[in-house]
Amino acid sequence: MDCLFCKIINGQIPSDIVFEDESIMAFRDIAPQAPVHVLVIPKTHLSGMNDITDDNKEIAGLIFSKIPEIAKITGISESGYRVVSNCGSDACQSVNHLHFHILGGKKLSEKMA
Ligand code: AMP
Repeated sequence: MDCLFCKIINGQIPSDIVFEDESIMAFRDIAPQAPVHVLVIPKTHLSGMNDITDDNKEIAGLIFSKIPEIAKITGISESGYRVVSNCGSDACQSVNHLHFHILGGKKLSEKMA
């Protein structure tokens, strides 16, 4: 499959990995929008939020259960962080593999959009 993040998962494209287990991977965004900007993705391909269903909802729980640990690893657990997932064209999703942005390391904008 011609998916950028699937290529990162299988090592075809290098990445700066901060966390990985059998189900998920977290790596630093190549164009960070905050001092800490990490992407958390499932290792199984889902195109985005609209692909989450009753049949695969466990992966959403797995991702969210690891976000606090990833925040701790990247040093933003106490200072705070924002978790964002863009879905579809109005949200400017640019990579069609489900991912959650973790942003922190500075005071973020009060506005989200
Ligand atoms: P989105 O626009 O929400 O789909 O987010 C996709 C994110 O992937 C953007 O923030 C990009 O900077 C990031 N990105 C694209 N290519 C890479 C890459 N090779 N390694 C790490 N992050 C990437």
